[in-house]
Amino acid sequence: MEQVGVDPAWIARHPHEFSGGQRQRISIARGLILDPDFIVADEPVSALDVSIQAQILNLLMDLREKHDLTYLFITHDLSVVHHISSRVAVLYLGTLCELASANDLFTEPRHPYTRALLSAIPKVGEKKAKHIKLKGEVPTPVNLPSGCVFHNRCVFARDRCKKEFPRLNELPNGSFVSCHGVEEGWDMA
Ligand code: SF4
Repeated sequence: MEQVGVDPAWIARHPHEFSGGQRQRISIARGLILDPDFIVADEPVSALDVSIQAQILNLLMDLREKHDLTYLFITHDLSVVHHISSRVAVLYLGTLCELASANDLFTEPRHPYTRALLSAIPKVGEKKAKHIKLKGEVPTPVNLPSGCVFHNRCVFARDRCKKEFPRLNELPNGSFVSCHGVEEGWDMA
């Protein structure tokens, strides 16, 4: 309880007597009590206020150092991803688009979907938004598009994209990208 910042004097309290942040700390303690090497954290801060999010993220990072942990951190919040991750996998409709170090992914995203996601983050001082607007709607995951699952939304899609599922190729910097355009060096500026 002390390691996750919960007062041991509260041990007899009931769940409804704790705040959302305290409950999240208790969930983390329940995971740690098994002495794991690896923890899957699925949207662990998405239901919390921003100020509490920062506290929980810092706690998770401290515990990672202290217990030599590895997290698989699942989230839709890119600022959280940037803050906590060393390696990032971007998924679209359950398909791996790009896998890269956090630094490479945020400085030089390669997959069109990753680029669109990052372009949607507002930047302080940017006068004109440079958002990459995706076309169409997200398809249903029970009836995935042919070829590249992103082709009906990608502004760079060509015929090959509709027919052939792109392989996950390793790039010279050690990143992996699943895109015909990246593989063939199409002009995607
Ligand atoms: S394979 Fe084609 S449709 Fe898919 S992301 Fe690359 S360019 Fe776009």
